[in-house]
Amino acid sequence: MDKYYKAIKENICKYCVDSNEDGKCTLSKQEICAVEFYLKKIIQIVHSVDTEEISVYHQKLRDEVCSNCKTSNNEFCYLREDANCSLDRYFPLIVETIKKVDVGLIT
Ligand code: SF4
Ligand code: SF4
Repeated sequence: MDKYYKAIKENICKYCVDSNEDGKCTLSKQEICAVEFYLKKIIQIVHSVDTEEISVYHQKLRDEVCSNCKTSNNEFCYLREDANCSLDRYFPLIVETIKKVDVGLIT
């Protein structure tokens, strides 16, 4: 889990609009990053199927994470609509990063 967390910090946070120039997260203590909050589940989703089709992972994300997320309501999520969920915003890059960790391309 640590290696994935480290890879996410280095490969997602660095580019996230909610990070500063040093790649440090600027969310307040009251805010929750969905990437961090759901990381264990995201890793399980990526490991549950082996495909190049990002849409397959996206559907699983909707079914297994978004459906239980408190900001979603009947498939509508105001954070996603506003491009304000980091997990949704960077999902393809997150999947790619986890896969790279798995094959040792990121250590
Ligand atoms: S919002 Fe999430 S993905 Fe973005 S910098 Fe903060 S911890 Fe990283
Ligand atoms: S897109 Fe919305 S429902 Fe899905 S994880 Fe992000 S905040 Fe939660």
